[in-house]
Formats: sequence, C-alpha cells, structure tokens
Amino acid sequence: MKTTHEVTNQVPDLVDTNLFETDAALRDAVRFNAPELDVQALRELGAEAGSAEMQTHARLANLHSPRLHTHDRTGHRIDEVEFHPSYHALLGAALRHRLHGAPWAPGGPSHVERAAGFLMFTELEPSVLCPVSMTYAVTPALRANPALQAAFGGLLASPAYDGRFRPASAKTAVTMGMGMTEKQGGSDVRANTTQAVRDGEDAWGERYRLVGHKWFMSAPMSDAFLVVAQTPAGPTCFFLPRWLPDGTLNAVRIQRLKDKLGNKANASSEVEFVEAMAWRVGDEGRGLPQILAMGALTRLDCALGTAGLMRGALALAMHHARHRSAFGRRLVEHALMRNVLADLALESEAATALAIRVARAVDRSESDAAPAAEREHEALMRRLLTPAAKYWVCKRGSHFAQEAMECLGGNGYVEAEGEGVMARIYREMPLNSIWEGAGNIMALDLLRALRAGAVSEALECELAPAKGAHPALDRAVARLVSKAGDGVEEAESRRFARDLALATQGALLAQTAPPAVFAAFCESRLDGAPDAFGELPAATDFDAILARAGAE
Ligand SMILES: Cc1cc2nc3c(=O)[nH]c(=O)nc-3n(C[C@H](O)[C@H](O)[C@H](O)COP(=O)(O)OP(=O)(O)OC[C@H]3O[C@@H](n4cnc5c(N)ncnc54)[C@H](O)[C@@H]3O)c2cc1C
Repeated sequence: MKTTHEVTNQVPDLVDTNLFETDAALRDAVRFNAPELDVQALRELGAEAGSAEMQTHARLANLHSPRLHTHDRTGHRIDEVEFHPSYHALLGAALRHRLHGAPWAPGGPSHVERAAGFLMFTELEPSVLCPVSMTYAVTPALRANPALQAAFGGLLASPAYDGRFRPASAKTAVTMGMGMTEKQGGSDVRANTTQAVRDGEDAWGERYRLVGHKWFMSAPMSDAFLVVAQTPAGPTCFFLPRWLPDGTLNAVRIQRLKDKLGNKANASSEVEFVEAMAWRVGDEGRGLPQILAMGALTRLDCALGTAGLMRGALALAMHHARHRSAFGRRLVEHALMRNVLADLALESEAATALAIRVARAVDRSESDAAPAAEREHEALMRRLLTPAAKYWVCKRGSHFAQEAMECLGGNGYVEAEGEGVMARIYREMPLNSIWEGAGNIMALDLLRALRAGAVSEALECELAPAKGAHPALDRAVARLVSKAGDGVEEAESRRFARDLALATQGALLAQTAPPAVFAAFCESRLDGAPDAFGELPAATDFDAILARAGAE
C-alpha cells in the first residue's frame, strides 16, 4: 500500500513518570505540613500511579462503563453492577495505598499523607476514588454506633480489597457509600421523604425498616451505605448493608445507572428501599450534623481531587508543549504559550498548597498530642478552609481544564477510544464542584462557619507568617480580616470564600514556593479577581515558574 504522508510532529504518550518525584509543589506542600513524614510510600504510589500499566487500567475502566443487572437469567432480583476488571485493579490499588478509611485506624497514615496519595491517584483515575472518598468520610461517623464500629472499623481500613459481592463477614475489606440526595432536593436534606420505622434491636443496635428512594447513590456495589431517613424526631443517619447478617440480600433495588457526562468508570445509581433493614447511627433527629461532619471530609477530597486533576492536566499540557512544534519552534519556546503554562502552574501549585493545608488541619485538630490551643486553631481552620477550598479550587477546575485542553489544540478535544486523557479530565472537572454541595452551598456553609469562633483573630494568626512578604498579600489579608470582623452578607459569601482561599493560598506559597511563583501569584490574583489564564505581566519570571512545574 502506498503511503500518503509521513506522520511527524505528533506527541508521544506521557507514560512511566513518577507523579511524586515530578511534582515539586506537592513534595513541598507535604514537607511543610508534615515535616517528619517518611515519603517513601508516596514515592512508590507516585511510580505506580504514573505507570503505563495503570494508565491502561484507567483507560479500560472508563471505556467499558459499569453495567447494571437487576435480575438473573431466571428472573430473580440480584441488583448487581458489573465492572470491567480494570476497575477492580484500580480500586484494589487505591485501597492497597490506604486512601480509604485507613487514617482513622491505629497505625494508619496521617491525613496529610493520605491526602497527597489521593491527589496523585486522581491524576491517574478519579472515578474509582468516589467509593474510596466515601469510605474515608463514613469511617469516623460509625463511632456513633460502637457495635457497628467494632464490626466494620477494621474492614473499612483494610488494604486487602475484596471485590466479591458477598456478606462483609466473608470479605477481607469493605467499602461504604453515602445516600442523601432524593428527587425533591439534595442540598436541602431536611426535605428527605424516605421513612424509617423502628423494627427492634439486635447486636448492631436499633434496627429500622426503610421505605423510600435515593435519586443519586454512587458506588452501589459498596458493602454498605450511610443513608439519611426520617424518623419522628427528624432526619437520622442509618447504616444500610447490601447483605443482611443472615446472609440474604437487603431490599435495596437499583432502578438504573446514571448516564453521566464524565466519571464513567464509577457507577452512580437511582435506588429504592423496599422495607430495607438499616441500623441507627447516632441519635434520632441528629442526622444533619452527622452528615455535615462527613460532608466536610468528602469536600476536602473534592479540593484534593481537583488539585490532582489540575496537576494531571498541567503535566499533559507541558508535555505536549515540549514535543509539539509550530511556526518553527517548540510550543514551550513561544512567549505566549510560556505565559499560559506558567499561569496554569501557579493555579495548580496554589490548589495543591491549600488542599494539603486543609488535610493538616484534620490531622492536628484530631491529634491528642497537639497542644489545646493548636487543636482549637486547627479545628477552626478546618471549619473555615474546607468550604472555601472546595468552593474556589473546584470553581477554577473547569476553567483550568479548558485552558489546558486548548494547549493540546484539536487533539485535546478528542477521546480516541479513551486514549484522550485530557478530554476525560475535562469531563470530570465540573463534578467536584457539584457533588457534596455545589458552589452556593459551600458559600453558605462558610457563612455558618464565620459564626464558629473568633474568626478574624484566627485568620490573622494563620496568615501572619507571610506578613510583609508582598504588598498585594498584605492588602488582601487586611481586607479579609476586616470583612470577617464586619460581617459577610449572604449575597457576597461567594466573594468572601474566594478571597479567603486566595489569601490563604498566597500565605502558603510565601512559605513553600520559590519567590518567582509567590510573586507572580500575588501580582496576578490578589488585587482583583483572576481573569483568563495566560495574562501574566511580561516581566514575570516565566523561566523560574516553568522550571518549578517541570515544563523544561
Ligand atoms: C455523578 C454524581 C454522583 C452523585 N453521588 C451521590 C451519592 O453517592 N450520594 C448522594 O447522596 N448524592 C450524590 N450526588 C448528588 C449530589 O450531591 C447533589 O446533586 C448535589 O448535592 C446537589 O443537589 P441537587 O442535585 O438536589 O440540587 P439542588 O439542591 O436542587 O441545588 C441546585 C442548585 O441550587 C443551589 N442552591 C440550593 N440551595 C440554595 C440556597 N439556599 N441558596 C442558593 N443556592 C442554592 C445549589 O448550589 C445548586 O447550584 C451525586 C451527584 C452526581 C452528579
């Protein structure tokens, strides 16, 4: 066969990179927030998550979406979801690296270590992290039912993934999901209509029968779920297993799987409960505060996940710009492309710095070893920075993905049978902003947090180490502290969330990033809202920023 042309100037795949070794921003964020940590496990995770073999699993798990089987061949209900083997390989790796309930178990990783691992794993594949994140969040919630905690706490922290659909008592590890959202409203959990009727008491505590539905319930093959249902005292949390203690299936009917924009490897379902058995976790009527506590942990994961997706998109954009030429030079040598990449690198590093800082707040606010004053400060920071980070980092995510995609030109928009990783990242990005509380809900949550203590003083203390480092940061901190003291109106709470995130990012970069990164961040983002990417002033030290990100 005659050839019509030679294929040139196309970019090779970005494979076999160590996601930890190549990410200086992440390494410095980890060092700053956990100076004593031995990072060997993160190095190993970085190598595995950047390997060609795992990338193939990520492609296949997304290409071959999960399938629901409501009945078996002979008409019995089975309500099983079938996944491609690559999904199990990925989920197995995530558990092996202890990204689920492990930080809550004795001898488990710190929250900072787990956060860094979660961020890197997201670069590989975010969908399978949905059940991983939910397991992380529900594990401490089970403390409200000591019998369930004793029965499942160890299994929720076990690194030995067991993908078989069978009772938890016969498995080496379990995962859990969460079911709050119903058709009539997700943000307003009080509007839930699913009813719980008391049915007796047994070894797992107070048993109820649940009748109702959930409009979104992801990872329906999880071994159990924490769900909210109404009791006479109001919304209440329940532990709802897929299998009952007698070895029969619980009455959880999966109606259908959601046909989603992205997040293709993960199954998200609509379910009905037909007198399904569930055990109470916490007091009747106390469901909302419990949900909020869990939500704070999954919201941290939304910020971490978005920081990971940003870093993944940036790495692809830099790789492309290094290998692709236009108008006689490699893209990375063009002044405007250097500006775009440098600006993306600033955003990526700032997102990483903020998300890992929130993970430290979880560590230190939970630590018995921390002095009481530090614990109190960290608890307040955790309360304030979680909604601010989820709001701002996730809001920037889609915008970021669009710009990173554009760096690849037309190839960025092409799926190519799952080989187009940038397209996958782009489709995934909006999700972290929507689930676990959309943007407005984050801003409203931050408003509530502002009433939680001496916020102005705590912010001054948090941001003090960067005082005098840059005039724009000093101005931003002064505005923020004064606004926190004066009071924030509901209508301006998004703006306050943004300003809190930006000032904290600036203060963190002052302590962890090279001077060029810190200066460019302050100059481009703190005196007015950031605009389109690639509008950094011409005098910016692009060389230093790009070297830091690994573009050269
Ligand atoms: C792929 C996917 C998987 C999911 N998996 C799960 C799961 O496993 N378990 C689960 O429980 N849920 C899950 N969800 C549901 C998700 O958490 C909700 O969709 C989300 O919380 C928003 O709720 P809603 O869709 O009912 O929208 P609504 O609550 O109707 O909100 C719509 C819009 O109104 C805004 N809004 C709401 N109240 C206010 C207010 N007071 N002031 C101003 N604005 C307001 C919101 O910010 C949002 O922008 C999933 C969603 C998706 C997309």
